[in-house]
Amino acid sequence: MSATGSPISQIPELPDDLSDTILLDGDDVVFDYCPAFGRWLERTHGVAPLSPRPTSYNMEGWLPETHQPRASQLIAEFNSCPEWFGHLPPTPGSVEFVRLAKAAGFRLRMLTACSTSASVRSARTENAARIFGEDAFDEIIFFDLGASKLHELRKQPRSLWVDDLPKHVRSGYQAGHYGVVVTASHNRSQRNCREHQDLPWISSLADLAPALKARQPSGLSHSLA
Ligand SMILES: [Mg+2]
Repeated sequence: MSATGSPISQIPELPDDLSDTILLDGDDVVFDYCPAFGRWLERTHGVAPLSPRPTSYNMEGWLPETHQPRASQLIAEFNSCPEWFGHLPPTPGSVEFVRLAKAAGFRLRMLTACSTSASVRSARTENAARIFGEDAFDEIIFFDLGASKLHELRKQPRSLWVDDLPKHVRSGYQAGHYGVVVTASHNRSQRNCREHQDLPWISSLADLAPALKARQPSGLSHSLA
């Protein structure tokens, strides 16, 4: 935390020994989840969130008190609605980030804990193709809600790994990756926690653009514009 109490973006320099794969989380890293969830809640349950965006992971203080105990259930319900979950907008800067990474020759893989059900997988896959392009991600790896990503992270080559949950970023370090936490409204308080200050925090994927431009994968012959 800075002397003024406001977070400072730590724009990281990437280690030299990373592979040409970039691992990205889905919700709140490339997909802007909460505004759509809020509109769905209002439309289908008749209650509006109490503020524009949540300030905690469990949506406490954002969901009306009557709905707070059912937060996990509501998330699962929302994710199972393809007409909503399958049409999430990108987070600011993510389309440009994906374009830049692909142009630089990186391979992108998404690791997303939204559900492993076939319909949710297909809604997410189609959403990603619509926003980022059919071939933007060479693989999307799905986990159940709240599940650890560690076992799949262990199968990946040493990569840049971006998630909005410090626990998943830490799993990345356990698996040998270089993890970065992207700031979101719901993790700002964690960013200022002593226990998470050893992690690199960025404001958005756009913060990684200079590092990507500086580091093209080995064997790549063309230059970035
Ligand atoms: Mg996320």
